[in-house]
Amino acid sequence: MKAVFLGVGEACDELLPNTSIWVQAETGGMPRSILLDCGFTVPSLYWRRRVDQEELDALWISHFHGDHFFGAPALILRFWEMRRRKPLTVIGPEGVEEVLVQAMNLAYPGFLSKLTYPLRFIQAEPGQTLHELGFTWDFALSSHGQPNLALRIDDGEHTLFYSGDGRYTKETTALARHCDLAIHEAFRLDQEVAGHGTISGCVTFARDANVTSLALVHVQREERRERWEEIMRFLENIDDLHVLLPEPGDEWVL
Ligand SMILES: [Zn+2]
Ligand SMILES: [Zn+2]
Repeated sequence: MKAVFLGVGEACDELLPNTSIWVQAETGGMPRSILLDCGFTVPSLYWRRRVDQEELDALWISHFHGDHFFGAPALILRFWEMRRRKPLTVIGPEGVEEVLVQAMNLAYPGFLSKLTYPLRFIQAEPGQTLHELGFTWDFALSSHGQPNLALRIDDGEHTLFYSGDGRYTKETTALARHCDLAIHEAFRLDQEVAGHGTISGCVTFARDANVTSLALVHVQREERRERWEEIMRFLENIDDLHVLLPEPGDEWVL
């Protein structure tokens, strides 16, 4: 399994695109491709990869904040322009179909009925296990301003955890247990913010969950700018865990 960090930023970052991870794997002898979140700055990053219109199998939406799903209409629109035929599976929290249809109707009224491919919506519930596209999918609620589902996907060989937004909970820590890679949002270095993780808290989370590697994303823009050296010093002192602070375009093979 490979994780490509298309974007690693928070909602209002002027430099970094929204956090989005493009996951590629092989299941049942088939190449598979999933986009984890699609905020307003993400579709162009995906298209820049020169992928064809049938490449993407599924879109995962962690929650309904714009930096995590407002790119979906542009993605869906371009698949139509490119005459996609393959169904696109969209998996997300309760209300995913209604919210996406609403977003699509606001952004591009009338286009949903013209699509050349079916959208296949699957509503995910915390604690539920799904078997889709050769992956096992599990979900747990984090603590965020909007109901946000953390995701665990397993391709049979490797396991990836993606927090979406929100603070770790007992349930998300259990979900991440023994993952090869946990990708977690960390808004601040150590200052507690309601509904978000911190870099130091994520390290504790990763140790508690016994993950192999931890990737920190969605760091608040001023924190990133003003406390970068402090963040680096903090991370350099961690020797029992592999911690990454990916930049847009970085790739990680599990
Ligand atoms: Zn966010
Ligand atoms: Zn959010």
